[in-house]
Amino acid sequence: MEEQLRQSQKMEAVGQLAGGVAHDFNNILTVIAGYANMLMMDLPALGNEVRLAEQIAIATERAAELTKGLLAFSRKQPMAPQKLDLGEIVQRVETFLTRVIGEDIQLKTHLLPDSLPVWVDMGQIEQVLINLAANARDAMENGGTFTIATGLFEDDSLSAFCGPAGSYAVIIVSDNGKGMPAEISKRIFEPFFTTKEVGKGTGLGMAIVYGIVQQHRGYITVDSKPGDGTVFSIYLPLAADCAEMYQEPAVDQEPEMG
Ligand code: ADP
Repeated sequence: MEEQLRQSQKMEAVGQLAGGVAHDFNNILTVIAGYANMLMMDLPALGNEVRLAEQIAIATERAAELTKGLLAFSRKQPMAPQKLDLGEIVQRVETFLTRVIGEDIQLKTHLLPDSLPVWVDMGQIEQVLINLAANARDAMENGGTFTIATGLFEDDSLSAFCGPAGSYAVIIVSDNGKGMPAEISKRIFEPFFTTKEVGKGTGLGMAIVYGIVQQHRGYITVDSKPGDGTVFSIYLPLAADCAEMYQEPAVDQEPEMG
């Protein structure tokens, strides 16, 4: 828990800094991209110059992708929480996830038949699953299985963030890819930490996942073994434990006097 707190403070500081830079940088990139496109239109179509202008446009686009990731990571996006069943959430994004992982990887789901109501921002949870799926795909270059399971977890030893009961809906996402040693797995939530080659990874995917899970008052753990694969467990407080946090404001308020 202390580690989670330390990590979240670090994320907040980096997030604020990165967000400020990313915003200004994005404006500059828009100008560069605009001029590169104008050049491409003005230059003779077959010349060498037009190809150079094209390279500028491509590089700018890549930089814009990076700043987009930075903004997503740093922005404390306002949550639009809804009470949803965890199993239903998984079912809703399943088709999209199969596209993310590609044809060589099989998606399997093991969903608890009981309902697991949680307060979540659907878009943000989708983002979490997409980021995890993209990493799983990269870890299984020769194909494999990407599994999503749901479960219920009761732990009184952990002080629950939302209520005293400590009941969590758990979503367990695993792959049987290349896995990672401890010195890597302990760093994956750090912003900009990546083991991928330039242009392939920004090192922001897992930092975004971490931020979103935290905003939902949950927590995430990772268990990985080189050569075997990786398991991420995301714990989200059950809706009942968070009732007072997300309660709608009372409508039958006393009329204001005076
Ligand atoms: P990126 O994917 O851009 O590198 P992430 O923050 O998403 O950034 O991931 C950071 C690093 O964590 C990756 O570069 C990779 O080394 C490691 N990683 C994340 N998920 C997995 C996984 N499922 N299997 C193996 N390594 C992983």
